[in-house]
Order: sequence, then structure tokens, then C-alpha cells
Amino acid sequence: MKVQTTSYRELIARQGLRVTPQRMAILEAVHKIGNHPTADQITDFVRKAHPNIASGTVYHVLDTLVQHQLIKRVTTDRDVMRYDGIMESHHHLYCLECNDIQDYVDVELNALLQEYFKSKKIEGFEIKEFVLEIKGTFNKCKNR
Ligand SMILES: [Zn+2]
Repeated sequence: MKVQTTSYRELIARQGLRVTPQRMAILEAVHKIGNHPTADQITDFVRKAHPNIASGTVYHVLDTLVQHQLIKRVTTDRDVMRYDGIMESHHHLYCLECNDIQDYVDVELNALLQEYFKSKKIEGFEIKEFVLEIKGTFNKCKNR
């Protein structure tokens, strides 16, 4: 998903956050790298323009962006946290061979899940969102 540089400023301001060069650079990095980057990949990317940024600062800004719903955390089996700039509801395909995480959007599936849980409520729990972790192997990774 493409976001113009000018609108990173807007996105941050719209969430009531103060716009700082670090926040802009890190939000931009998550979008530009794409494909659910790790904090290390984000740090490397940001250091091209901000060579002196500490990794602690990157983590701190990532947390702030998550708290203000500008990015999401993507969980992985490994201990590595990855980040997602796409805020619209979507699912993830996890490749067990290459560890790639690809977005999977299926409006019909979302409607189906919503219908299902409407008629079969989970006691004492209010559902906000569905994010499926769909695990498997991409064709390109099968014969390695
Ligand atoms: Zn995603």
C-alpha cells in the first residue's frame, strides 16, 4: 500500500501525536519496507537518513505508533516482533519454509466469521476483530 510522504505527517497528527522526524521516519519505514518488517529491518532503513538514531528510540517509537493505532504488531512463532502498516482488517499467510508473512484479504471470509459468531456467541467475550494466522507453504518454497 502506497502512502505519500506528506501524509505520514497527517496520519501522525490525526492521532493526536506530536509530529517528530523520528516518528515520521519510522512510520515511513514500516510502509516502505512492507511485508511485515522486524524492528531490526526498520532500524537499518531509518539509519540511512538518521544515522545516529538509537535502537531503543526505534523500539520506543514503534510502541507509540502501535498504541496510537498507526501500525500493528504481528506475532510470530519465533521471538521476533514484526510490524504491519496496513490497518484495514486482514489475515496473514505464514510460510513455514521461508517465514514470509503475506497479507490475505477476503471480505467474504470476514462476513462468514461475523455471521458465525453472531449466532454462536462466546460467553463473556466481545469480539472486535478477526485476524487469522493461516500457516502453510507457498508453491515457490515447496521444492527447496
Ligand atoms: Zn499484514
